[in-house]
Amino acid sequence: MAANCIFCKIIKGEIPSMKVFESDKTFAFLDINPLSYGHALVIPKHHGAKLTDIPDDSLTELLPVAAKIARASGAENYNILQNNGRIAHQVVDHVHIHMIPKPNEQEGLGISWPQQ
Ligand code: C5P
Repeated sequence: MAANCIFCKIIKGEIPSMKVFESDKTFAFLDINPLSYGHALVIPKHHGAKLTDIPDDSLTELLPVAAKIARASGAENYNILQNNGRIAHQVVDHVHIHMIPKPNEQEGLGISWPQQ
């Protein structure tokens, strides 16, 4: 954990979040500024800015959790995205995988989560 990291504070519950998954190594919550309804972030509890800073045993959980959340959301179409470094559009320096549902023009998102 890093004292000044906003995502470490979310993991510790010092900043509130809409949690959608938690295990020993992984935490996931809804993005505060979603690109679409259901946009979620999957993060390792181990603090590290970039993918290359995270131990393999934490890294290997992230993608299966992203898949689990995509499945649970019921979204038919979604993007999985992960940014490393400012030029690559990373804003928060704690590794995170985005799960971004994509609306279907005819049928909307098809997401089964309750509206907040
Ligand atoms: O990949 P990148 O670093 O650009 O994405 C950071 C993401 O973290 C943004 O989508 C932003 O909305 C989200 N965020 C959040 N809660 C915060 C701060 C940032 O969900 N307190």
